[in-house]
Amino acid sequence: MLEIKDVRFSYDKKSPIVLNGINMSLEKGKVGVILGGNGAGKTTLFKTILGIEKPSSGDICINSFSILDLSRKERAKIVSYVPQNISFGDLTVYETIMTGRIAYFDFNEGQEDRIEVERAIKEMGLESLVDRLSEQLSGGEKQKVAIARAIAGKPKLIVFDEPTGNLDLANERLLIELIKRLSKELNITVLCSLHNLNEALEIGDNFFFMKDGIIKYTGEKDVFSEEIIEDIFGVKVKILKIDNQLMIAGGERK
Ligand code: ADP
Repeated sequence: MLEIKDVRFSYDKKSPIVLNGINMSLEKGKVGVILGGNGAGKTTLFKTILGIEKPSSGDICINSFSILDLSRKERAKIVSYVPQNISFGDLTVYETIMTGRIAYFDFNEGQEDRIEVERAIKEMGLESLVDRLSEQLSGGEKQKVAIARAIAGKPKLIVFDEPTGNLDLANERLLIELIKRLSKELNITVLCSLHNLNEALEIGDNFFFMKDGIIKYTGEKDVFSEEIIEDIFGVKVKILKIDNQLMIAGGERK
């Protein structure tokens, strides 16, 4: 379970507070979606979870254990990050996925590292690509490699920042399915930011609407309302229910 308790942060003393007391919790194996306008602080919140920035106060716990004072290496065993723009350098698929184990070994990988890499390869169906250069793969294959690298580290939480931002429709669908599998089959907790509200509804179990440095609204799918979306994004939408599924239409600016 991920718990974020009253986290505050600003980039420096003179700049405005970006995180002004963030409180949220997300159960193990659930997909949490952070929603908010540009500049709301989503990426900054992720940086505090990943240890790139340190909150000025508050705590971040996974399974009741604070991760704030862990070294980068120790934290990497608990939290993995799948970036939006993936660049793998000159590594094969196998080597790329092995980099997801770096927190576990000093110089050379061991038997357990190889077992976890094999497991991640199988999980993502990458067996036929292991010797190819990751950089030369298609967009969808690269996504799978990035996720395999993340799960090879056996994290408790995987963070995705705007994961569908640069993908075409087919790869967007693939990614949504992969994220659902991470949570439902592998029981990994996933936190992601998304700007497409319908994608958010499809993928998320819990939703966190961010504005003015706080989580202003939170809940399951039924938290979505036309008023909340207007407050958060400044646009008017219609929420429709089709075959018992919510759909968000429109998006006229106020
Ligand atoms: P989001 O991901 O929701 O678009 P960000 O976390 O990127 O929001 O940004 C939140 C606020 O923090 C913005 O006002 C942005 O200008 C500011 N900010 C982001 N990165 C930095 C930085 N490295 N230094 C100073 N201010 C920053």
